[in-house]
Amino acid sequence: MTTPPPPQYQQGGNPYGQPQAPQGGNPYGQPLPPQGGNPYGQPQPPQGGAPFGQQGPQPFPQQGAQPGSCTFCGGLPAVHATVRGHQGFLVIMRFLKLKANYCRSCGIATHRDMTTKTLWQGWWGLASFVITPITLLGNLGARAKFNKLPSPTGGWGPPRDAGKPIFGRVGAYGILAPLIVIGAIVGVNALDDSADTAVVGDCMHRGSSSTSQPDLTVVDCTDAKAQYKVLAVIKGSFTSSEAEEKCTAAAPDFRYDYVETGSGSSFLLCLKDK
Ligand SMILES: [Zn+2]
Repeated sequence: MTTPPPPQYQQGGNPYGQPQAPQGGNPYGQPLPPQGGNPYGQPQPPQGGAPFGQQGPQPFPQQGAQPGSCTFCGGLPAVHATVRGHQGFLVIMRFLKLKANYCRSCGIATHRDMTTKTLWQGWWGLASFVITPITLLGNLGARAKFNKLPSPTGGWGPPRDAGKPIFGRVGAYGILAPLIVIGAIVGVNALDDSADTAVVGDCMHRGSSSTSQPDLTVVDCTDAKAQYKVLAVIKGSFTSSEAEEKCTAAAPDFRYDYVETGSGSSFLLCLKDK
């Protein structure tokens, strides 16, 4: 009842230091070599196509290329420009830039690629929320230069295909990521009716008869469930006698004080019957 071992996935060279045990056995008895599972564990070899890494596909200028001609195809006219990209990860960030001479076609192609990638890779960190829009706006200057150029001629190779417009590319919809995050935060806050969102003038409902956990929630004052009106909100942690003192000072006509002490926010509400 021996079955042949499953074909092993190899990525170039012989990743296995030792021959695998032939029969069934435990295929995981030996540590497996890395199989590209961790893209950040080792420097990746440059992968063609994207001028996004530090070393993008910058064709070596051929001999006899005219000075100032396009770095990518040798065509003229070309302008010197820097196109930037940004990648945010949770803790680290990458700032990418590709400084070169660009003809119209290669410039537009690079700008579209970098912008699209930045739109979906640029948001994954707090600082990146600020840096990504700056990067995108900064590239508009380079893009405007490219747009003014006529089509290139006389290059030693074909100019890059400008490709689809940015919003014809799936990655561009990464721009929705920050909107979704902001929308979610706003949405959660709007739905949150717990006592710590109460402000002066709000009305509250008591969901439980328990003295220690009265389950106060903010409700609309026109709501039949509204029982109390908030007269004062005081940040801080207070004992019951301190709370009474504070409410007496802040809202002399208060009837009840409610102290909540917890992670993040501790506060005191001074309430009266609605
Ligand atoms: Zn070019």
